Amino acid sequence: IVSLKEVHKRFGDNHVLRGVSLDVGRGEVVAIIGKSGSGKSTALRCMDYLETIDSGAITVCGHRVDQHDVDLKALRLDIGIVFQSYNLFPHLTVEENIMLAPRSVKKMPKAEARQLAHRMLGQVGLLEKASQYPEQLSGGQQQRAAIARSLAMEPKVMLFDEVTSALDPQLTGEVLRVIEDLAAKGMTMIMVTHEMNFARRVASTIVFMNDGKIWEQGDASILNNPQTEALQEFLRNEL
Ligand code: ATP
Ligand code: MG
Repeated sequence: IVSLKEVHKRFGDNHVLRGVSLDVGRGEVVAIIGKSGSGKSTALRCMDYLETIDSGAITVCGHRVDQHDVDLKALRLDIGIVFQSYNLFPHLTVEENIMLAPRSVKKMPKAEARQLAHRMLGQVGLLEKASQYPEQLSGGQQQRAAIARSLAMEPKVMLFDEVTSALDPQLTGEVLRVIEDLAAKGMTMIMVTHEMNFARRVASTIVFMNDGKIWEQGDASILNNPQTEALQEFLRNEL
């Protein structure tokens, strides 16, 4: 459902992605780990065409993302992305935030969009916050609202970039539970995370990036038995 082939990306002289190849099947949960600056966010951003690649090929849900004439609208209907910062609109209530894209992109009638928003808020345990404004919510609640907003577009793939790294441990737990629920429902997900225990438990595939390349890839056992010095060192520093 997502495929990267020999993807290269430079920012000026900085060769950030140096031949990244990755295949993600439907229902798979991929956790990307690696130290700061290794290219994890850039790889994710390239999948959503937030960055353009210099060479190689990317396909997401049948859409080519490597072309300059990429069908952005079709791509963005199939892919949801959530970042560390929640990016909710402060002047809209939580439910209005969620209704916005279904209303404007899918031309959904207001009542139906509100129903959908409530269903999504129920899924992330925030129904009682529907009519509040983002600033009235905790960080974890805002992040769950941002996930609900993404889910309202019924994406086929969800990308998460360190969605819990701005949160304290208790709030992190609530957000991770939402992601774990999604995994149990069969959502295809690619997430960059520093939560090793979570990755170990929820991910079907763990990808270790280093210096713009995938150095190791496999199920959770690669964390118990790292083959490269780089992954050994990374895991030592994470613990
Ligand atoms: P972290 O764990 O700190 O989030 P990361 O693995 O996500 O790190 P990236 O954000 O992908 O790393 O950055 C990889 C490299 O690309 C870094 O050297 C960074 O400075 C550079 N880079 C990222 N985005 C840009 C940009 N928009 N313009 C120029 N350089 C960038
Ligand atoms: Mg990053």
